[in-house]
Amino acid sequence: MGTNLDSFKRGLGRFTEEERPMGGLRREGAHGSFSLPPISTHQVPPSRPEEELDRLTKKLVYDMNNPPSGEYFGRCARCGENVVGDGTGCVAMDQVFHVECFTCATCRCRLRGQPFYAIDRRSFCESCYIVTLEKCSMCSKPIMDRILRAMGKAYHPQCFTCVVCHRCLDGVPFTVDATSQIHCIEDFHRKFAPRCSVCGNAIMPEPGKEETVRIVALDRSFHIGCYKCEECGLLLSSEGEGRGCYPLDGHILCKSCSARRIQELSSKITTDC
Ligand SMILES: [Zn+2]
Ligand SMILES: [Zn+2]
Ligand SMILES: [Zn+2]
Ligand SMILES: [Zn+2]
Ligand SMILES: [Zn+2]
Ligand SMILES: [Zn+2]
Repeated sequence: MGTNLDSFKRGLGRFTEEERPMGGLRREGAHGSFSLPPISTHQVPPSRPEEELDRLTKKLVYDMNNPPSGEYFGRCARCGENVVGDGTGCVAMDQVFHVECFTCATCRCRLRGQPFYAIDRRSFCESCYIVTLEKCSMCSKPIMDRILRAMGKAYHPQCFTCVVCHRCLDGVPFTVDATSQIHCIEDFHRKFAPRCSVCGNAIMPEPGKEETVRIVALDRSFHIGCYKCEECGLLLSSEGEGRGCYPLDGHILCKSCSARRIQELSSKITTDC
């Protein structure tokens, strides 16, 4: 008879996670003006003797032309000129800069003493950096750290939540409904799963399982445990020998209860006549 095991399979949503995509991103605090010991040109480790001689010669010539005045910090990585004197330089991204040369690549504001962001050896002030960031499709705010991608959209991990219970679904299986609303698996089933015609509850997978089995009979759905003879309570199954369903007038009955009812009906008809 019309008993069939229906495997209710859901499509699992997939997401990926990534760090900020811009390669060598580092958030750094720029060092202020020097309180570090000045960089000494004498500290370069000697290599081969010819090179060493060459270097010493060059330095001698350089020193004659540029007698060191005050403290020498090194060459500015931006303009190439010497950085000399207290308070004139700063160190960032392992390089020496003039204070006025260490600026935001976009708005040119000075970055010394400010938080700045280094992307591919270029430095940005905080506000210029934020403008370049991807926005969260839930809260529309820029995503500073980790991006969670799901269904082609970017989210803050903490914004990726179930629309029903608001639980964060970062790293948790989720699924979406027809209007792309994000649901945890439990709420999705509670909302959309077929209801059991006996107990009225949703027919959904056991915790941790991806599939659920429901029984469909007489165009109605049943939990496996709710598919019982209405008369004697025998658990019915299409597979168990002698446990098939013998429905009568839309009632779910086991073989013997169904046979007895038919007998009662026919004897009633006989006596009525
Ligand atoms: Zn400079
Ligand atoms: Zn800027
Ligand atoms: Zn967000
Ligand atoms: Zn939920
Ligand atoms: Zn049920
Ligand atoms: Zn029965």
